[in-house]
Amino acid sequence: MRHSLLSSIIIASLLSGCDSDDTKTVYVEVQSATSEVEAEQLTTSATTDTSYEDIGDAAYWINSASRENSLLFVTLEAEGLAVYNPLGKQLDRLEGLEVTGADVRYGINADNGEAVDLLALALPDDNSIGFYSIGYYDGAVLEEIGTLNTEYSMEGVCLHKNTTNGELLLTGVTEDGVAVQYKLKYDAGEIKSVLTDNSGAPIAVRELEVGGELSACIVDDETTTLYIAEQDVGIWAYGVNPEDINSRRMVDSIEPLGNLQEIEALDLLYMSDGNGYLVVGDEGKGMMLYSRDDWQLRANIYLDGVDEIKSLAVADDGIWVANSEADEPVYGKLSYQTLNEANSIRDTPISQVLSPANLSSTGVALVKVVGETAPVDDDGDAADDPAFWLNESSPENSLIIATNKQGGLMAYDLNGTELQYLNEGEPNNVDIIQSVSDTDGDSFALAAASNREFNTIALYKIQEATESQNPIVKLDAVGENAHEEVAQLASELNEVYGLCTYQSSDGTPYVFINGKSGDIEQWRLTVQESGIAGNIVRRLKVDSQPEGCVVDDSTATLYVGEEDVGVWKFSADESAATDGEMIIEVDGEQLVADAEGITIYNNGTVNYLIVSSQGNHTYAVYNIDESYQYVGSFALVTDDVNGLDGASETDGIHAVSASTGDVFPNGFFIAQDGFNVDAGYEYENQNFKIGDWNDIQLALEK
Ligand code: CA
Ligand code: CA
Ligand code: CA
Ligand code: CA
Ligand code: CA
Ligand code: CA
Repeated sequence: MRHSLLSSIIIASLLSGCDSDDTKTVYVEVQSATSEVEAEQLTTSATTDTSYEDIGDAAYWINSASRENSLLFVTLEAEGLAVYNPLGKQLDRLEGLEVTGADVRYGINADNGEAVDLLALALPDDNSIGFYSIGYYDGAVLEEIGTLNTEYSMEGVCLHKNTTNGELLLTGVTEDGVAVQYKLKYDAGEIKSVLTDNSGAPIAVRELEVGGELSACIVDDETTTLYIAEQDVGIWAYGVNPEDINSRRMVDSIEPLGNLQEIEALDLLYMSDGNGYLVVGDEGKGMMLYSRDDWQLRANIYLDGVDEIKSLAVADDGIWVANSEADEPVYGKLSYQTLNEANSIRDTPISQVLSPANLSSTGVALVKVVGETAPVDDDGDAADDPAFWLNESSPENSLIIATNKQGGLMAYDLNGTELQYLNEGEPNNVDIIQSVSDTDGDSFALAAASNREFNTIALYKIQEATESQNPIVKLDAVGENAHEEVAQLASELNEVYGLCTYQSSDGTPYVFINGKSGDIEQWRLTVQESGIAGNIVRRLKVDSQPEGCVVDDSTATLYVGEEDVGVWKFSADESAATDGEMIIEVDGEQLVADAEGITIYNNGTVNYLIVSSQGNHTYAVYNIDESYQYVGSFALVTDDVNGLDGASETDGIHAVSASTGDVFPNGFFIAQDGFNVDAGYEYENQNFKIGDWNDIQLALEK
């Protein structure tokens, strides 16, 4: 696509977020100034039957049970709120309050199973948000169910209902360029903030310094994208999750770099085939429709008699639009029938508009985090891969060993307390063989890590942590394949990356190490008096970047994730053939790229292969004993009561099948968390989250 010099500069500044190996990077392309979409002129059909001087925002409630009883909510600033039916007849009115923003969400559940459809209204004079349940009550269509008192004067408001866990999130935008988010719950007949201070005042979970005057916001619940209109700059897209620190992207900007002039309104149009539009109302440019998936501008519609669009709301039969230049402003409806006659839309007509109430829930099993480790020493993308050492004589004193790929290896106890930080190298992945024989016939636990600083395999002994001894002890690599500077095994790969260990049935220890090129080395290790020697006994290959891997010692099977493609199965036997078999493909639903960490949970009853599906923040579970049949997916979610945040954008994972005594009698699951916050949602360095296997098993069986 074409860019002017100026737009290239903008792109560079938009790309300022960090680009790391394990985090998907999204490149920004600002729309070129000369759009290929031609503006078209259409005519509205129905109009509202009352007029008010001021136009604020609008939101539409689709009544799925009886569509003719759907409702259009129109905010009138100082004149309150008006409610219309789909024909434009005014049904109700709220007076005596200043109302600017409005948004609707469906099926908000209370703990007692009761559910309401919710209208949120921004009440800037009171620095508050008002909540109303929508329905047909005695002579009215709204019932007040709570107020959120904030320190902000909100111009716009948008709701988000998480399709995985049903959590409700509110974002408000101000004229001073700030967006602020609150987690909400529906409790005892009232919508309230999940987090409050001692005086009961709500605590915001995120504040975004967006820029200048903000005029509107809307959330795509399916893609979890928060769109914010900075009136005189452009439309920003953020991850809606308050933990998300990925850099924002720009959908389109103001002319001459982009296609917009003065952005006033945003809404979303979902279609049942999965497509849809981000619908933008612009005072100068009319109505703009962008594809939800790639943000390409698809249509630019001017409406007869509408000089300046100030507000719009997507309905199931058309789009309601208000004109701020009219002497007697009313809302007019552009029907989809008319819109489908536009040249730009005709080939892909709008049909089967999906009510946001029917956005499919993902069916992911939800598992509350029960513990987390201390944050790692480095900021940015640093925590990567966990492993586990079983203390056989005292299981509750077992250890989590994990990597900080920017600086070293950590040992944590099962409470997540850091017992040791061995600050050296850039260990990416780590894995442990529980029991290896030394030259005296005694056994020790051997850890191996892929060290990206020297392109080596670093080796360690893992032992019980006591007052007088550290749990992680360096072991020297010896022999002809030891690196010249450090006593580690020198890989021949261009750039070492993933790593996993294997112990054959005769007790021989092996390491598999892979590189970004797709090459995989199999090393046989030999324990000697002076240290550990190693040599490459076999080479394997996948076509593109692998990382996560695990070996099932019981069947001598190596599983390797090719990040964008799927999971391969190879024999781990050094004398076996080198051809692999693709057993699980990245399908964009159960397994969403990157396929990251891989681990096995086998307690004798269930035998699962678990893959970190980084792209949708879940862990996909497959039954090894039934040809890798998909069992289900789970997510590690926030426990606000205990101040533990959920895990997302996970790299490495490790499942522990062994009992660790009373702590986790059926084992547990460890996952790297890409975004770690404290109990008050302040950002902290990354860490590792813990889920109890009992909870995971129960959730998968539901
Ligand atoms: Ca990776
Ligand atoms: Ca990462
Ligand atoms: Ca709206
Ligand atoms: Ca590992
Ligand atoms: Ca988190
Ligand atoms: Ca945390």
